[in-house]
Order: sequence, then structure tokens, then C-alpha cells
Amino acid sequence: MQLVNLKVPAEQVSFLQAVRTGLGQQQGLFFPTKWPQLDCDALLQLPLQARSTAIMKALFGDELTEQQIQQMVEQAFTFPAPLQPVKDELYCLELFHGPTLAFKDFGGRFMAQALGQAKQQDKVTIVTATSGDTGAAVAQAFYRQPGVQVVILYPKGKISSLQEKLFSTLGENITTLAIDGDFDQCQALVKQVFDHQALVKRLNINSANSINISRLLAQVCYYFEALAQLPAERRQDAVFAVPSGNFGNVTAGLIAKAMGLPFKRMVAATNINDTVPRYWRDGQWQPKATQATLSNAMDISAPNNWPRVEALLQQGVIQRADLEAVAVDEDDTQLGMRQLAADGYISEPHAAVAYKALKRSLQPGEIGIFLGTAHPAKFKEQVENILGCPIALPPVLAKCQAEPSLSRELPADFAALEQLLLELEDHA
Ligand SMILES: *Cc1c(COP(=O)(O)O)cnc(C)c1O
Repeated sequence: MQLVNLKVPAEQVSFLQAVRTGLGQQQGLFFPTKWPQLDCDALLQLPLQARSTAIMKALFGDELTEQQIQQMVEQAFTFPAPLQPVKDELYCLELFHGPTLAFKDFGGRFMAQALGQAKQQDKVTIVTATSGDTGAAVAQAFYRQPGVQVVILYPKGKISSLQEKLFSTLGENITTLAIDGDFDQCQALVKQVFDHQALVKRLNINSANSINISRLLAQVCYYFEALAQLPAERRQDAVFAVPSGNFGNVTAGLIAKAMGLPFKRMVAATNINDTVPRYWRDGQWQPKATQATLSNAMDISAPNNWPRVEALLQQGVIQRADLEAVAVDEDDTQLGMRQLAADGYISEPHAAVAYKALKRSLQPGEIGIFLGTAHPAKFKEQVENILGCPIALPPVLAKCQAEPSLSRELPADFAALEQLLLELEDHA
């Protein structure tokens, strides 16, 4: 598989090189130049792991054996992605049945496997910014892995307390930093780390954000899993609505389409941090200051993965009409949660944003699928406030809720972060 740096096209790498380096020169994203065309009718008859192995093999089977890929998939995808009926012609694709109760488990766990194949040195430092759920997925995927140090940056006070507890209570090789700033600032700090060549080399730094291509490719698999659960004759009517922040999830869905998955279109749903819906409407890329919302994992106004969507358009493998972009405000988010609850489906703010965007987009005869990106219990407080019904905590959340957070606070300042990374090395 050949990937190109979208900012510096002369920089071309293999899949394993892209996994190993994360980000290219000048902070450019790596992205494949060609997409294999898959025999989807046959693939959609296979079970999740066998199908996902076949999809990954079509992508980077020139670099890893089928047996290696199968093993990676079997270690990573250990939980289901059920298409849950909500009412007629409306489903939630529930992606929160993994160990940290969010869809980030698919990408995070698969990336841990891919990095295991790709790494050349014994020691790796993974530096990652999280808007809420990546942190937990990555921390759990790498927890106690020998030779791996994980450093997680998150915006202090801007994620739910249960989201925070899922990664800040682990300790050992997991260092968590509550940054005095918003997620965009955390993300900018991580990019600054990558700009610091000497530091990157010295600590062998990688990132686990969705800038790492292995995460995106893993996520392609659950779009196939969703369609496999629909009757064959209805698949081409399916419309996916994706709660979007950094636009990795949307990119994965569009990649699935580029590889031949026969669904109709995608709706990228954002909260009031609506850089992309405004851009899609009037062609002006004008990020505003990020605002805190109920769907905090989507509080991002400079989405990292957008250049990859543009690349898919440029490659001609998706069309503009394959994607809609819809912004949903806070009142509508709450309304969406209440409407879903009235239909007997308890949801949380991220899925509700997608649900409302989907409702605005759906035409008669279409099948709506909104993505459930996190378990409602991760947002227990908000969900209980909005719906007025008690939410039980799954065992994993009940356990970490009782434990103390081990996070350190840090200003949104590169020098402070650099010093901390160097201290970590001394103690490793
Ligand atoms: C990360 C996250 C999102 C946004 O996904 P992107 O791939 O960054 O667009 C949406 N919902 C939840 C619950 C998340 O954790």
C-alpha cells in the first residue's frame, strides 16, 4: 500500500511506515493514493472478523501476511457492533460495546496491533490529544505494554468526569495531563511535539490520534458490518449520519464508499462548532473559537482529518453529493435525546446530534442509520438531567469512578510539555 503526504507529495511511505511515523513532514497527513475495489456482495455474507481481515488484506496485504492481519483483527475487534432498530427504517449503529464504551476502541485497539507490527525500536512514546474518548481507548489498548509510554493531553474541565476517570486512574505507563485550554489547543501542542524533530527522534514519539492511518482503516470495517445487518435489497437506500469532530469517522465511511460499499450517502453532523457545515455551504474555511457543548467530544473547530476528505474528492472516488454536512444546536440536541427516549431508545448527546441531522436529511424510502459513538452512561449526569431517568453504570465505569484521578495539570505551553516528556524519559 502506497501513501502520500498530502502536504508534501514527494514524501511517499508504506502502510507500516505511516503507522510508525504518524504524521509526515510539515505536519502533513498520510493518505493512500488508490483504493482496492471489493466484491461487497460476497464480503457482506462473512462474519465481522473474517470480513474485516479481507478488507485489511485488500489494503495492506502486500506488507503483512493474511495470518498476521487476521491475528491483528482478532485481537482488536473483540466486541460486536449491533445495528439496533429504533423504529421503522431507523437504526442506531452501536459502536460502544468495547472496553471503554466508545467507538474509539475500534481504532485505538487496532492501532495498538498495527504499531506492534510496525515498531522498530523497543521503546515508543505515544503522545495523544483527546476530546474525551480517544484517551481511554488508547490508554486501555496500551496499558502495561512493555516499552510503551503513553501521554494523554485533554482539556481540563471540558470532558465528562466519567470519560476522564476511564483513563486518568490507570497510572503506570499512562501519564495524563489536564491542559488549561480547549481541545484545539491540546491538538496544536501535539502537532508542535511532532515539529520538534530532535525530541521525536530521542523519545521515538508517535501519535494515536486519528491522524494515524491505522485508526481510520480500522473504522472502515464497521460500515461494512452495518450494511451486512440490513437485508440485501435495502442496502443501497442506507444513509449514515455521523457525529463529527475531527472527521476521522466520516473519512472512514467515505473510504468504505470509495471501496465499493453500496450505501447511498453520508451526513456529517456537527454541534455548533460548525466549521465544516459552513464551509460545505459557502466554500469559506473559517474556524471560529471553539464552544463547549453537550457533545464535548465534538467540540473541535479545526478538524484534523478534513484534508483527507478533500483528497477523496480530488481522487474522484467520492462525489460531493455523497456527503452532506449539518450543524445541530444545543436545544435540538436535547430535543433529539427526548424524541429518541419517547421511542424507547436511551441515547446521549453525540448520537442525538447525528439523529437530528439525519432527520433533516432523510427522504422517503431511505433507511436512516445514525452512529452511536459512546455509551449513554459515559454522560450519566447530562443524560439523567435531560431525560429525567436514572442511568445505571456498567461495571467498568463503576470501578473507575471510585478511583482517584492521577492527572497532572499543565498550562497550554509547549516548553512545559517538552520538559515533562524529557522527565518521563529519565524515569522510564
Ligand atoms: C471522537 C468522538 C466523536 C468525533 O469523531 P471524529 O472521528 O473525531 O469525527 C464523536 N462522538 C464521540 C462520542 C467521540 O468520542
